[in-house]
Amino acid sequence: MRRMISALLLLALSAAALANDPNAEFEARFGDAFLEAYWQLNPDAAITAGYYKTADRLIVPDSNARAEQRDFSKKWQARLHEFKPEALDAGNRSDWALLDNELRMELWQLDRLRAWEWSPDIYNIANSFALLLNTEYAPLDQRLRTVLKRLKNVPAYYAAAELSVRNPTREHTRLAIEQNRGALDIFGADLEKQIASSGLSAKERKLFARRIATTRRSIRDYADWLEALDGKLAKSGTARSFRLGSALYDQKFAFANPGSAGAQALYESAQQERLRVLGKMELLADELWPKVMAHTPKPANRFEKIGQVIVQLSRDHVASNQYVSYVRSLIPQLEKWVTDHNLLTLDPTKPLVVRDTPAYQRGVSIASIDSPGPYDPGARTYFNVMPLDTLPPNEAESFLCEYNNWMSPVFIIHEAIPGHYVQLIYANRSPSRIKSIFGNGSTVEGWAVYAERMMLESGYGANAPELWLMYWKWYLRSVTNTVLDYRVHALGMSEQEALHMLTHEAFQSEKEATGKWRRVQLSSVQLASYYSGFSQIYGYRERLQKQQGAEFSLQRFHEQFLSYGSAPVNIIEQMMSVASPRRGK
Ligand code: ZN
Repeated sequence: MRRMISALLLLALSAAALANDPNAEFEARFGDAFLEAYWQLNPDAAITAGYYKTADRLIVPDSNARAEQRDFSKKWQARLHEFKPEALDAGNRSDWALLDNELRMELWQLDRLRAWEWSPDIYNIANSFALLLNTEYAPLDQRLRTVLKRLKNVPAYYAAAELSVRNPTREHTRLAIEQNRGALDIFGADLEKQIASSGLSAKERKLFARRIATTRRSIRDYADWLEALDGKLAKSGTARSFRLGSALYDQKFAFANPGSAGAQALYESAQQERLRVLGKMELLADELWPKVMAHTPKPANRFEKIGQVIVQLSRDHVASNQYVSYVRSLIPQLEKWVTDHNLLTLDPTKPLVVRDTPAYQRGVSIASIDSPGPYDPGARTYFNVMPLDTLPPNEAESFLCEYNNWMSPVFIIHEAIPGHYVQLIYANRSPSRIKSIFGNGSTVEGWAVYAERMMLESGYGANAPELWLMYWKWYLRSVTNTVLDYRVHALGMSEQEALHMLTHEAFQSEKEATGKWRRVQLSSVQLASYYSGFSQIYGYRERLQKQQGAEFSLQRFHEQFLSYGSAPVNIIEQMMSVASPRRGK
């Protein structure tokens, strides 16, 4: 009885608070209270965000878990809609819009997209365990005890995976087999060494040994089960297509790019942009020809002409054992340029540390940013660069040709200064955790692509035609990604057509093109995020510049834009227009 009274009282109180101050009430409900409930259901996402309170939970991905997810999204969406967005201030209103999109998307993923049925690679325990074992967020013993608890559910986890998978695509099935077999490494010698060097009791060690053995068996069984399933699918020829189809593609695109004109409009814009970029590249190839190609006869075919100049310029690169130190030397140079030209304020207390990519993260990309999440913004950020001298010489050479002395600065701008790294630092400082956590992929990639163009336009690299040509090649990749993604998933483009476009019309190597073909089979919409985000950011800047005329400040634009975290571009635009209303009216 007492509980009922206090529940009633609470209800009355919250109704009163709602009536009085919707902003305070919104912040109380959708601040840490919402996130804590969210992390309970999504401990893996929590670990990625740097929130470890729920890290010992491994959710068994069965129909109960999906029902719980569905209830959660519905319940919080109802709570969200108790607020009228127009009664909230700009910051809260944009959190409202972000959450509304997120919760609707989660329901759509569960009930319409249903990747949990056809994408068996989503069942893989590796990533969270690797993070717990390799991130020093707590003393080793404590982390090991968390891992030990988390291991308990592994057999149930993979049993539920087998029950959930039905009619998967063969591509995702092969990926799941490969990645799960790779996951076995995490439960191998390194972990045993960590346990041996820990302060765990004999009893704990015994339990650990037992759970590791069970875990390895569960993973192997799942991979074997998928192998058998794949064999059946190969024989019957009835596997689901990896192509999403235009209806699902359009819907997925709309969730990923709120406020945009839609997937087809972006595709059409990218087609136009491709032609424009190729025109610019041809002019630069003509300009550079005498200097770079000397007396070689110039081919009439535009693609051959541009391609030959690019190949020649790509020979200009450092030795494989010099690459990490070369990158290290570029960082302060880029920082100085950004500061000297008032492009934006960098945080001197957060120096970027360039290091060799740790062994367990190697093999995927040449470089990546390893940054702390919104719960640990004080932690160090690393810029991982693959030590190329650890690769076979021909592989190292092909990496170096791609990341030559003209391309590398563009690439480091994208990844680090003032691209991803700078954006992340600002995002983690953003007053809204919601915006940092439910960040928009198109904003994140779009900012990095925007940063490249903005740096070159500011005069970085002294407008060298070699740099611009290489830049356009790099940018053409973003544009072509959009074309490829849409054509493959919505229009049925074949592998042969795709490879032809990438190698002959976008100047990509065979290796890069086949890698891209694999990626477009395994993902959808993500490849469109680069150009989608870029064109929204660049378009917004142009409009603002026109509107503000002489009062426009590039630095102010950048700092304001980044201060809203990784919110979708349309929301940032709304917030910025409220924060700095047009004067003179
Ligand atoms: Zn990127």
